[in-house]
Amino acid sequence: AAETDETDGPSKSEGSEGTSDGLFRVILLGDPGVGKSSLVGIFRREQDRESAEQQQELYQCTLTVDGEDTSLLLMDICEIQKRTDGCNRALRMGHAYIIVYSVTDRSSFESASELRIQLRRTRQYENIPIILVGNKTDLVRSREVSVEEGRACAVVFDCKFIETSAVLQHNVQELFEGMVRQIRLRREGADP
Ligand code: GDP
Ligand code: MG
Repeated sequence: AAETDETDGPSKSEGSEGTSDGLFRVILLGDPGVGKSSLVGIFRREQDRESAEQQQELYQCTLTVDGEDTSLLLMDICEIQKRTDGCNRALRMGHAYIIVYSVTDRSSFESASELRIQLRRTRQYENIPIILVGNKTDLVRSREVSVEEGRACAVVFDCKFIETSAVLQHNVQELFEGMVRQIRLRREGADP
């Protein structure tokens, strides 16, 4: 098992600064089949083709955004929770969250709201970066959730929103760059 499985939530001293090794744990949440592994997989192939020993569900990447490098540890938590004590731990250990639903699956959209509520309950005194993602926009004819609904949901739940297609690699780079910017905003705002 990966060492990270045993890591506890961000400690008081870490705060929004990331772990002591400068990594930000970004946890992907969402129903099975919405495309979490596919979204992370794009990065794996593009940036780290040769890294064979990578655990499938943990992926470290360094993004250069606005001329500055930031390292993310992307965690596809649905894979992890099969082996450990599940969602509660995931809700405590992330520095940032990507909540994914499929625009072709209304029940996954409802699950995303539920996850957001659980996250707020678990981390109520923290201002953690969260991005709501409507994936599979390429499946135009089987769409069940409109872009307006997604956007409205993000307003209600006070998080960022983006629609993506992992298959077409549409907006995936934008998603992860947006996450890096969110993390930096929190970091810059952290000093009183
Ligand atoms: P996970 O369970 O959330 O990790 O979902 P996966 O990444 O394993 O994807 C589940 C299925 O949806 C797979 O068959 C993917 O090929 C497919 N899939 C994922 N993203 C997209 C997308 O953007 N468009 C389409 N058409 N299929 C997708
Ligand atoms: Mg998966």
